[in-house]
Amino acid sequence: MKVLGNTDGPATPGPSILVVEDDKSLTRVFATTLEIAGYRVLQAESGQSAIEEVRTRNPDIILLDLGLPDVDGVSLVPQIRSLTTAPIIVVSGREQEADKVKALDAGANDYLVKSFSVPELLARIRVGLRGRAHVRDTASTVVTFGDYNFELEARRLLRGSRPVHLSSTEFNLLATLARHADQCVSTEVLLKETWGVAYQRKRGYVRVYVHALRRKIEKDPAKPKYLLNEGRHGYCLRTSTSTSRGDGSPSTTRLRRAAA
Ligand code: CA
Repeated sequence: MKVLGNTDGPATPGPSILVVEDDKSLTRVFATTLEIAGYRVLQAESGQSAIEEVRTRNPDIILLDLGLPDVDGVSLVPQIRSLTTAPIIVVSGREQEADKVKALDAGANDYLVKSFSVPELLARIRVGLRGRAHVRDTASTVVTFGDYNFELEARRLLRGSRPVHLSSTEFNLLATLARHADQCVSTEVLLKETWGVAYQRKRGYVRVYVHALRRKIEKDPAKPKYLLNEGRHGYCLRTSTSTSRGDGSPSTTRLRRAAA
């Protein structure tokens, strides 16, 4: 697949967007527009395949049409919500206030009427993805630890000014830890947010990828400074410069606006 939107550093795939839409010509428009903007596009033409995609591919954001062949999109919202925290943007031809309220009440994050412009669609997606990083008031998120700058939105890890190549899964795992930096993240949450809910029993995956990340990030992977075990429960990305652990000090995660 062509990955656009990354002009330097290793090509890392952009955030994934699941487009749930049964109108093929509209799906093509979405796919072209979103791929040019640097997103990976997943597609589903029915409610059933939408659930399947969410279950297995764990998209970063979901665009949901309400008029689907097998199910009303509104009833799909709580089902998707039970599987993922990814933002759901309803994209519908229905303009009635009541339809919007129903979709938002069901758990959708946003609602776009189908006469939208492309810049508006892309802006709403950016807002949705920013919410996903649990940071609503910054244009971009950088998590700093040691010599590393982990740029979540640009999807790259820099050591000083040099990019560190991460596979897509390694990136996603580190991103999950970075979003909860300095907190213990359980293996279950790591599996759910990195691989999707269908993988919640695959605890071995986390061990394997933490091991791989440590080899790339840690000076001594056997004595990690950043990617720490938190007992048998999970892992923590330590961003603090303090060497003490478990001191209850407030998070020192630095989230700042990335240099333009
Ligand atoms: Ca439709």
